[in-house]
Amino acid sequence: MKFYLDDLPILFPYDYVYPEQYAYMRDMKRALDGKGHCLLEMPSGTGKTVSLLSLIVAYQLHYPERRKLIYCSRTVPEIEKALAELKRLMDYRHAQGAKEPFLGLGLTSRRNLCVHPDVSREKHGETVDARCRSLTAPWVREQHQQQQQTGDQMNVDVELCAFYEHLENADDSATIPSGVYTLEDMKEWGRENTYCPYFLARRMIPFANVVIFSYHYLLDPKIAELVSKEMSKDSIVVFDEAHNIDNVCTESLSIDITRPMLDASARSCRALMDKVTELKASNSEKLQNEYSRLVEGLREVQAARETEELMANPVLPEDILHESIPGNIRRAEHFVAFLQRFVEYLKTRMRVLHVVSENSNAFLQHVKEVTFIDKKPLRFTSERLGSLIRTLELSDLADFRNLQKVAAFATLVSTYQKGFLLILEPFENDQDTIPNPVLHFVCLDATIAIKPVFDRFSSVIITSGTLSPMELYPTLLGFKPLVIESYPMTLTRNCFLPLMVTRGSDQVAISSKFEVRNDLAVVRNFGNILLEFAKITPDGLVCFFPSYLYMESIVSAWNDIGMLQEVLKYKLIFIETPDAAETSIALENYRTACNNGRGAVLLSVARGKVSEGVDFDHQYGRAVILFGIPYQYTESRLLKARLEYLRDHSNIRENDFLTFDAMRHGAQCVGRVLRGKSDYGIMVFADKRFARQDKRAKLPKWLARGVTDASLNLSTDMAVALSKQFLRVMAQPVGDAEQGTQGGTRVAGRHGRVGVSLWDEKMVADVAAAERIQQQKSAGVLQPGTVGIAALR
Ligand code: SF4
Repeated sequence: MKFYLDDLPILFPYDYVYPEQYAYMRDMKRALDGKGHCLLEMPSGTGKTVSLLSLIVAYQLHYPERRKLIYCSRTVPEIEKALAELKRLMDYRHAQGAKEPFLGLGLTSRRNLCVHPDVSREKHGETVDARCRSLTAPWVREQHQQQQQTGDQMNVDVELCAFYEHLENADDSATIPSGVYTLEDMKEWGRENTYCPYFLARRMIPFANVVIFSYHYLLDPKIAELVSKEMSKDSIVVFDEAHNIDNVCTESLSIDITRPMLDASARSCRALMDKVTELKASNSEKLQNEYSRLVEGLREVQAARETEELMANPVLPEDILHESIPGNIRRAEHFVAFLQRFVEYLKTRMRVLHVVSENSNAFLQHVKEVTFIDKKPLRFTSERLGSLIRTLELSDLADFRNLQKVAAFATLVSTYQKGFLLILEPFENDQDTIPNPVLHFVCLDATIAIKPVFDRFSSVIITSGTLSPMELYPTLLGFKPLVIESYPMTLTRNCFLPLMVTRGSDQVAISSKFEVRNDLAVVRNFGNILLEFAKITPDGLVCFFPSYLYMESIVSAWNDIGMLQEVLKYKLIFIETPDAAETSIALENYRTACNNGRGAVLLSVARGKVSEGVDFDHQYGRAVILFGIPYQYTESRLLKARLEYLRDHSNIRENDFLTFDAMRHGAQCVGRVLRGKSDYGIMVFADKRFARQDKRAKLPKWLARGVTDASLNLSTDMAVALSKQFLRVMAQPVGDAEQGTQGGTRVAGRHGRVGVSLWDEKMVADVAAAERIQQQKSAGVLQPGTVGIAALR
């Protein structure tokens, strides 16, 4: 369908648009028009991605100065989904006669894009990177060339990658035609034309209209500069699935150093020293050349690392890059000795048996007192190590990974002061007696990593299905949104049923509160909820616990009281573990069990792999149970430090942040089962605290609207009775009939939904006209966020 938002023509690849999609696009356009940022919460399964792409692509093509969209998502499957959606949209636009040249592509790691017959078979990303580097590093190519020039063709034993060579030799003529390329399309094109898809994609970024990649390409300073420096200020940036974006920001600037890492680093230092001595004897000119380059400043060095993102510097301010490297680390052997001293210092620091918490300045002061190492050379450590690795022509970087981390730590700790803290924990748990020290360098302030993005790009869109409570994001991320909006879900049948179960059938209150969580009555009542829902839920039932520790203790208690055996009579049970491979197998088997018809139970944890990015649509999730409120482990020193920082610097109280964080993760978990309007599911919030207004108010608007008085403060048997009724209604087929009554509830077929939850072209035009009149009435002044969806109906 085609409709207009003001004078902007939108081609939307479906016959109908949801009212919330229309409102979403309209508000986004407002932010783009005003060159401002926005924060938009769109219910799960309401076509957020397609609305976003339809609007922005139309906007880009209408206003040629906004040529680029940078779309960031979290996982590779999400990137693939967005690319597929973009492809569908562009196909539709072409079918409608819009024949504009357009390039859309995705960028991800070598592991997902490599087409080399041997290298692409490797399973681990790090191995693919290392092997690729050993085929493409400049010195490897140089060696190959020398061998070719000197020896006869038969004796050339330095291997190269044909795909990379062809691309390099093609220079600027290596391009891809207009179109949208999924990761698979890109590989296909690479194979056919003998171009490496990974490097080709990177090369094409400046020419692409839409680039889809993971958050890290913009937020992680270690790689952000390498891929994002070409992006113009007028680019539109989108962070999708952004409910956790503040944590991604803080994690991208945090580093943990452990004792084994330091031991490995010390070994790497010795290996480096041997290499330096070797090179000094065989070709000292190379070291001398490096020395001269370093005197010139880092800008020169920078040019050499275009393809080496792993060697990229954590972050160095622009002015530093023009300075020359401090004299005491210019010579290779001096630098390695410097590194050795620093590693030894860290080892000694780790020998303490009490927790140490200090800021960067205190740490640097101590380093100076003990080792005479200054702050300035420390700042250059990471870059200097990268340069040395290149000079020594080391391609297999796996051995140096730990040393690189230590070097990144040195650079970060000497570059950042405010918003960072060093915490040295000698024991893994407070009860342990054998030390296992970890030195955490933690970023407490999410604004630091994202500030360059807000400063550089005029429109940044932060969106997700679960952003509530939204008020905290502007403070947490340090930006002023032009538009903040949360959209309800227009439904003609209530396809999800939130239930606040506060007590068991025996009327004992249930909660995952620390004081009561292990009471036998609570454990038994939680078990009863699982058992009762296992009996009535068709197909899949997903359960979430606040932590692995709690899940383990409660599952073992259920086992002891025979609860698991009871559940097994109705459904198979699968459990998520911290091991990613094990969890993937459990998930696969869970899906098989759901496909077989009997269904299964999946026990998992909030904030785990399953709660983020795994969808349980249709038969894979007909009910989800949240056992307790997923609060973070509040005794963690890292969390305490962040809470203190937020309280002192952002005026966010500890409790407010903890509840905000728990509720956004809770909403994320329950949202997994509803992936579209044709889907349906029961959402059980099993904790008496969920019934409180302060908790409910923090649920997303679309979800909170489903919570009625009848679904508050329920006991297990009441919840089961409501669920049975709900499932009976949902099990009825919805045809295209105008309207009907099923099980006492009014439902609508497609024609019944038109005008309510579906709008056709004419209805959109009417709404737009009504909006215009309203705008004129209010003298053309429309406050941001004042026109909600309710006003349109
Ligand atoms: S250059 Fe490309 S195709 Fe060749 S090994 Fe590296 S990633 Fe694979």
